[in-house]
Amino acid sequence: MLIDLHTHSIASDGTDSPHALIDKAISRGIDVLALTDHDTVGGWDEAIRALREHPSHSKMELVLGSEVSCQDDDGTSIHMLGLLFDSKYEPLIAEFEKTREHRVTRMSRIIARLNEAGIDITIDEVYAQKRDDATLGRPHLADALVAKGHVASRDEAFKIFLHNGSKFYINHYSPSPEMAIRLIKEAGGVAIIAHPLASRSGRTIKPETLMKLIESGLDGIEVDHRDHSEIERSELLRLAIEHDLVVTGSSDYHGTGKLNQLAEFTTNPQQWERLEAKANARRVVRR
Ligand code: AMP
Ligand code: ZN
Ligand code: FE
Ligand code: FE
Repeated sequence: MLIDLHTHSIASDGTDSPHALIDKAISRGIDVLALTDHDTVGGWDEAIRALREHPSHSKMELVLGSEVSCQDDDGTSIHMLGLLFDSKYEPLIAEFEKTREHRVTRMSRIIARLNEAGIDITIDEVYAQKRDDATLGRPHLADALVAKGHVASRDEAFKIFLHNGSKFYINHYSPSPEMAIRLIKEAGGVAIIAHPLASRSGRTIKPETLMKLIESGLDGIEVDHRDHSEIERSELLRLAIEHDLVVTGSSDYHGTGKLNQLAEFTTNPQQWERLEAKANARRVVRR
């Protein structure tokens, strides 16, 4: 069984359309795929249609979700995967909209800093890199910098200009992780913390924060992820067992935007079964 519970499409900063992503996942033989674009449900409808209209009689199951950008009190960025929630739950959708709006002003401010440093790039050039309704993110700015010839790749853009420690970095409004967990669960879904100890990409959550989230009703921990070292994985696994949390593994696939390949890490079927049972309704989409 291949179960991949974390992927992105052009509804945020991935490079495949939801339709293309579904087609690729089916060709790859994936059994359960989650679409988890940043702060949006904008790709859901296209993904559902692509699955229903797929010419093969694929039995792949589609799990709809979102990767919710969150911020801790001290400004640490935390990503919370929400899966199987009801997209008609207005308070959660309103929170996504608020975050997406603030991503726009934040982008103008990052661009102003780049311009001050003599790097020629405009907001229109960034917008040209994304679908109209897509959640705006630094990867679109990275693509614009590539198109302009300033850098060779998204990765280089992050290394030189866009990483979290950069002098050009500015964050945007996002809910606290506790609030994200509460909203996801009020919407009937399940909350899994994404890559919590990703020291390789400079994102490491403090142990006390993780404890606080477990007390707030966190359902699972993404343990197997390319940004985690072996030591980080065993530490997270121990924590998940200790607190009876679901353990997931996933690719965090972004199309050609990152090296991550579909299903490079996967979730154990029993763990997936437990997770699905925690949602307040059966929301998995089948053909
Ligand atoms: P933002 O949401 O605007 O803060 O941008 C964060 C996104 O940038 C994350 O979802 C990552 O997938 C992406 N990202 C971070 N580092 C890199 C990198 N080195 N190469 C490509 N994408 C990256
Ligand atoms: Zn991303
Ligand atoms: Fe993430
Ligand atoms: Fe992600």
